[in-house]
Amino acid sequence: MNRLTAEDTRAWILRFATTVDQQHHHLTDLDRQAGDGDFGTNLRSALGRATTAVQAKSVETPQSVFAAVADAFLNTGGTSGPLFGMWFRQFAKAAQTDLTLPTLARAATEGVAAVMRLGKAEVGHKTMVDAMAPAAAALASGGHGTDPNIHDALRAAAAAARAGAEATEHLAARRGRASYVAEQGQGVIDPGAMTVALFFEAATNEKDSR
Ligand code: ADP
Ligand code: MG
Repeated sequence: MNRLTAEDTRAWILRFATTVDQQHHHLTDLDRQAGDGDFGTNLRSALGRATTAVQAKSVETPQSVFAAVADAFLNTGGTSGPLFGMWFRQFAKAAQTDLTLPTLARAATEGVAAVMRLGKAEVGHKTMVDAMAPAAAALASGGHGTDPNIHDALRAAAAAARAGAEATEHLAARRGRASYVAEQGQGVIDPGAMTVALFFEAATNEKDSR
């Protein structure tokens, strides 16, 4: 079906949580090299809470799946917790009963705008925004035609997020605790941006095919 149900959305979040669980040492390592080293722990604890929350019986729509994830992140420490919380809150706001491509594109667009407002980050500051912005653009431009395919658009978003994350490698951080040691972080991919790529890759269940 050309839309995501509550079950699809839940499965997406669970795949994302599993990937992060597998990679949290690597993500923490990136933050240790470029920042302070708390990122993987923050992320894993948020997704641990999210995993429990999205499986609650009362979670019956994509909207309530994303709302549960947003709450889990908003209750997490670090800079990234509240920022991801605000991002997922925009997904919850945009999602209705089923998740269509225009809805998802609006969610991603409003999500990155909220993160940029809150974190005062622009594209190129070596943050999660560097992956969120191109992913949102890919979803928005994939939404044309009579019945645009949501899975194709999500694959394009995943590729755009991955490219955005990889491009952070050569940047110096301008935001977050990584900016205190910006030069030290050059040559290291931003873990927040990497996480956004993992999130969109989990949507299409093709994280191993890159
Ligand atoms: P901290 O920088 O406080 O140690 P975390 O380790 O929880 O925060 O998260 C680090 C990640 O958060 C970075 O990889 C980056 O993607 C993101 N980040 C940090 N500060 C900002 C900001 N002001 N705006 C957007 N993203 C940010
Ligand atoms: Mg950190």
